[in-house]
Amino acid sequence: MKSKVYFTSFRTNPELNQIQKLEKLVKAAGIETIDFKDKFTAIKMHCGEPGNMAYLRPNYSATIVKIIKELGGKPFLTDSNTLYTGKRNNAIEHMDSAMGNGYSPLSIGTQFIVADGLKGLDYIEIPVDGQYCPAPKIGSAIAEADAIVSISHVKGHEMSGFGGALKNLGMGSGSVAGKKEMHCSSKPYINQDNCRSCGMCAKNCSQHAIIFTPGHKAFINKEICIGCGQCVATCQFEAAVADRDEQLNILNCKIAEYAKAVVKDKPNFHIAIIMDVSPECDCWCYNDVPVIPNIGMAASFDPVALDCACCDLVNNTPILTNSNTVTDRYVKETCVCDKDHWKLIHPDTNWQAGVEHGEKIGLGTREYELITIE
Ligand code: SF4
Ligand code: SF4
Repeated sequence: MKSKVYFTSFRTNPELNQIQKLEKLVKAAGIETIDFKDKFTAIKMHCGEPGNMAYLRPNYSATIVKIIKELGGKPFLTDSNTLYTGKRNNAIEHMDSAMGNGYSPLSIGTQFIVADGLKGLDYIEIPVDGQYCPAPKIGSAIAEADAIVSISHVKGHEMSGFGGALKNLGMGSGSVAGKKEMHCSSKPYINQDNCRSCGMCAKNCSQHAIIFTPGHKAFINKEICIGCGQCVATCQFEAAVADRDEQLNILNCKIAEYAKAVVKDKPNFHIAIIMDVSPECDCWCYNDVPVIPNIGMAASFDPVALDCACCDLVNNTPILTNSNTVTDRYVKETCVCDKDHWKLIHPDTNWQAGVEHGEKIGLGTREYELITIE
């Protein structure tokens, strides 16, 4: 049975702007059928790392907050702390970052709450009988919520291939211990032929897992590495690379199991914004030129179908000639991606593993019907 995914483009006019289109989209997709009355509703989003400019503007979240309030719910915006260095690995800096990027109570109409607390230690285990993660460690504020709504920015990701609903829900809701559990099977390595000894990877490694050989080449101590992927995103010379074997597939499977835990036994609804599709995650303090032009917004009750629809929409859109897919990769990679932009950007990753596993564990289906809203 196909899941319905509703879609609207970014084409607007004076009588129907982007925010009005978002409201029209989610209502057409059925958000009003959820009983939000007096329900604490976690809106899982990502406020963007300071310095990143591709993150979603707060206006999208504010629109969903307004709708849920009108339906009688008690919405709050939320995300969990990160594993790596940066400005979102504890609640104080995370909330400062959210505020700095415009997610103030005034602009969003509610509070931004860090789901796993001050140091990322507040979590609740939710049993899902997963193949890899039997009881995902979900940030308490998300685990305790009565309903879940996700707003995901669609973009590339250096470890999972792309970031959409599953990544936002699964990895994004995991506490620090949960993120370690997901990442522990996906430790990168250094291709020493490419290493220019610039030191950026070591500078950004929160675990001090990168040392330098007598020849001044970087080397990862896998006993210490937690597989967060920051060195992969930081290295500009394709020397720190994700491991090509099954480990990245397993990472995506774990993310799907965490996503299943987040929505388990709760009404849930999912929104994806396909704009500023940067090659890397919003977790980094920079963003490169988008890979494709802005496309539009999509919504569904099924996060697996939503991810599949978004990937198809992205892959059916020609890449921008000034993006890294052309300038840095296309001309020098022998790529067997067959129009898979995520594979072109991150050849070592396999995003399909996540949606396949999501379908296998009953989180949703890869079969979808795309319904376009004007
Ligand atoms: S960032 Fe890349 S090039 Fe620089 S030291 Fe690390 S692995 Fe080598
Ligand atoms: S070596 Fe890379 S993946 Fe491992 S902890 Fe350090 S930054 Fe993260």
